[in-house]
Order: sequence, then structure tokens, then C-alpha cells
Amino acid sequence: MKEITGKTRILGIIGDPVEHSLSPVMHNAAIAHLNLDYIYVPFPVKPTDLATALAGFEAVGVVGFNATIPHKQAIIPLLQEVSPLARSVGAVNTVWRTPTGWAGTNTDVEGFLAPLLSIPRQWHQIKAVVLGTGGAARAVVAGCAQLGCQEIIIVGRNQEKVAAFVASWALSPLPVTITPHNWEELPQILPQAGLLVNCTPVGMHPHIDASPVSADLIQLLPPEAIVYDLIYTPCPTQFLQLAQEVGTTTIDGLEMLVCQGAAGLKIWLQRETVPVTVMRDALIQHLMR
Ligand code: NAP
Repeated sequence: MKEITGKTRILGIIGDPVEHSLSPVMHNAAIAHLNLDYIYVPFPVKPTDLATALAGFEAVGVVGFNATIPHKQAIIPLLQEVSPLARSVGAVNTVWRTPTGWAGTNTDVEGFLAPLLSIPRQWHQIKAVVLGTGGAARAVVAGCAQLGCQEIIIVGRNQEKVAAFVASWALSPLPVTITPHNWEELPQILPQAGLLVNCTPVGMHPHIDASPVSADLIQLLPPEAIVYDLIYTPCPTQFLQLAQEVGTTTIDGLEMLVCQGAAGLKIWLQRETVPVTVMRDALIQHLMR
């Protein structure tokens, strides 16, 4: 057990709930590996307590923290600096202290992109299909825009939310062409998809037999398509298993989780590199327990 002293520097994550967050597992593994006098702590913070929590963190010298549901949007007006990327996404997941106050960015985009960047593709010829219109879908859209995807097709079950989602990108500085679609249009959309990303919770534990796209529809994907599920419990999901059966390349959500965390840790520790393998192994070990 690590010795905590008055000199131990504090990192953490705020959320409501936050009890099930896996971030402490990977961050504390990296901290131990680097033999640093830091600790990463989960802090349950109710939405009404967000400003108080930030003031308290400042008072006790917290170095930085992650923000998860429901704070990713609400924290923005409480920060002194917000990166242009986080402004485009409309969400902050990583916060750190500067001499003038709290600064925030969004490392989910970097986390999402990390496993894609090692796959050779002509991204400007790729149509990306994004299932869902929630917070994670926003990071995915920003990532697809950074890749230079030809078009981003947003598929949602609530057409008002889909329209609002698409409209919210109209003023984005990111070069992005987004088109709204509904679930019933998947048979026409999937044959054009170069990248299909599940940003819904469908298939997440304990509903592990569910898939956002049926086995029949997945067969419509081109064989060179990449199928990406942001879910990491289970790993792989039913969706990815179906995609593997038709021979597409698949990516699970674990790498995004690890890489968004690694990007945050680099900011807090002001290091060029952090032990990503240690973080990934700690998570895998934890999930296998
Ligand atoms: P969210 O903000 O709640 O959004 C969920 C989206 O899924 C909404 O558009 C919702 O539609 C849609 N949806 C929910 N149930 C559905 C269903 N049965 N059929 C069709 N659409 C459905 O959640 P989020 O934060 O974006 O997270 C989405 C998923 O990504 C979660 O599984 C989360 O664990 C995962 N995630 C993973 C990482 C990672 O690092 N790997 C990071 C972030 C999120 P309505 O608005 O109509 O309800």
C-alpha cells in the first residue's frame, strides 16, 4: 500500500455516480510504476455541488482531475481556460490547475483516435457512421472531423435530438460535413460505411446479448469497414463479435479509455510519455477479476 503523506499530490475524478469508474485503477497503476508521490481519487460530486467542489479542490491544492457524467458540460463556465477542441465538442473531461485558475480540455477525442491512427486508410474518402447523439458521439464526431472523413452520418432514434446535434456543429471551426439519419435508414447507409461507431450503451453489461445493429444488417458493411464500439464491458461486445464474423476490422472501447486517460496524465504530470502499457494491463486485469 502506498504511503500517503502531507506531500502527496492529489489527482482524481468527479462524477455522479463515480463509484464504478475504472480511471483510478489505471492512473494509480501508472503512478506506482513511475514511483511518484501522487494519488488518484474518485470524488462523488452532485451537480449542485460542482462549484463548491472546484473551490475546495483549489483550496487543498488538487493538481488536476477528470470530469465524467454529469459534469462534462456543466463544468465549462466554471473554468478560466477551455481548449478550442473542448469548446467544439461542448464537453471537458480533463481539468488542471494553472496560476490563474482551472483549465480544461477534452482528451476523449485523442483517446478515440489513438487506435484508428495505426490503421492505414484514405480517411478523406471514408464515410463515418455514428450511432447515437450523446456526449461520446460529440467526441467521435470531432475525431472523425480531425481524420478528415468525407462525411459523418449521424444515426439516432430521436429525430429532434439528431437535428439539434447536427445543427450544433454548424459554427464549429472543425471541417465537418454531418448529415442526420434515422435507424430505419441503416440498410441504405451501411453499404457506404468505411467506419461504423457505436456511441450508444446498447450491448453494455449486463445487456450483453444486445447489439445496436443486427447480424443481418452488419452483413451489409463493406469488408474493409472498421467497426468501433466505445463500450468496454464486455470486451468484445455482441456488436463487435457480429462484425468480426463478417470479417471487418474491429476496435473495442478499452483503448479509447486508456488513451484518453494517458493524455490526461501527461498534462497533469507535464511528461511527454506515460506508461500506457501499464495502464492498459491494469485495466484488463481489473476487468478479468
Ligand atoms: P449518453 O450521453 O447517455 O448518450 C447515449 C446515446 O445513445 C443517446 O443518443 C441515446 O439516445 C442513445 N441510446 C441509448 N439507448 C439507446 C437504444 N436502446 N437504442 C438506440 N439509441 C440509444 O452516453 P455517452 O456518454 O455518449 O456514452 C455512450 C456510450 O459510450 C456508453 O456506453 C459509454 O460507456 C461509452 N463511452 C465509452 C468511452 C470510452 O472511453 N471507451 C468514453 C465515453 C463513453 P437518446 O438521447 O434518444 O436517449
